Amino acid sequence: MQILHSAPVESTSPAADKRGRHEPHNKLVHDDISRHILQYNPAVHHYRREHAPNRLYLPSDITITDMHADFCREVKRVCLETYRKEVERLNISFAVLGAEECETCTKHLEHMGDRGTAETCGCKLCQHHSEHIRRRDEARAAYKMDAGRTPDDQEIITSVDLQKVMMLPRLPGLKSCAFTKRIVVFNETFAGLGTSCNNAVVVWNESVAAVNSHDISANEITFKYLETGHTFMAADSVHHSIERQLKKCGDVRDFQEYVDSLEKARCKVINMEATSFKLWKDHSNRANVNKGGHKLSNMAVVQFRRGSRLLFYKNTHESNTPFLTADFLKKKSNISVLPEDRSTPRGIPKSKWDGIVKKLCPLMPRSRALFWEQLPTNDEVVDLIDTI
Ligand SMILES: [Zn+2]
Ligand SMILES: [Zn+2]
Repeated sequence: MQILHSAPVESTSPAADKRGRHEPHNKLVHDDISRHILQYNPAVHHYRREHAPNRLYLPSDITITDMHADFCREVKRVCLETYRKEVERLNISFAVLGAEECETCTKHLEHMGDRGTAETCGCKLCQHHSEHIRRRDEARAAYKMDAGRTPDDQEIITSVDLQKVMMLPRLPGLKSCAFTKRIVVFNETFAGLGTSCNNAVVVWNESVAAVNSHDISANEITFKYLETGHTFMAADSVHHSIERQLKKCGDVRDFQEYVDSLEKARCKVINMEATSFKLWKDHSNRANVNKGGHKLSNMAVVQFRRGSRLLFYKNTHESNTPFLTADFLKKKSNISVLPEDRSTPRGIPKSKWDGIVKKLCPLMPRSRALFWEQLPTNDEVVDLIDTI
């Protein structure tokens, strides 16, 4: 796990080395706290890897208040603020919703302090920030425009996002559950932008496949990106109601119970089997994209057109601005043939399976334990909780 590598060396060195030296005694407390935090198995959010590769998330059935209370009970009494600071230092967030903070804006706010206004300062950071705000407003305006538009019958307008780290089983309040490596569940949500829209959720878990794309049949697909840090969209509201429903359900012991609660949250559930996935290969040629001077991080609108090998893009949401093109595929790639279907489920590492079956299945009724006992194992795959 990345976090272990990036932690300061002294946090993993044995306490014995420090004997006789005047280490501040709270140093040891910090080590105890970080060890305690890591027992909860924070994981990466599989969509945010590129933006925030070192950021880890804890699933929403774990709260900092519970973690802190457990630490005080089992290890040592510390104040909540001390515990919270350690969580922050490890770059761990909670998968709670609507609390997304923009790092660029936070940094800029700190920079401003008593400097007056960004106009009078005018440093590089201030310039970067005003460009960020301009892009934020432009993207938000484009989003609102699409939300107010009635699509023609050949067109679907939707907001898409993957729900933040979600793990099963969820047995809130049971410490042994929080400390067990659980399976990662994926929920790709398609939410209509208007008020009375149908929401569809495409769900699968890591025993079926890791993050993948699925077969889409369309003549043209356009992606519009909101500015990093200001990405609130209709899919987030759907995630909110799912979270509310999961809380109401209490225990969510297997995948079927998860699907049931999604339906109760009025989502149309599309359950992906292993064979619903294609064995897609990456045919992109990043070097070629960079050579052409195309910057992925600047792209605001990206479009794919059936029959074309080019990537069409704009660095702005302005509707009158023409699309630019990038030749992004490897020369030799034949993209006219669809890849094969996945024939077998991905499976989960045997050690992870053992943990769940031995520690958590005894806490469930037989009918629910069955799902876990029948889950395929595969020692060739990595544990998705540990991968970056
Ligand atoms: Zn911002
Ligand atoms: Zn400045």
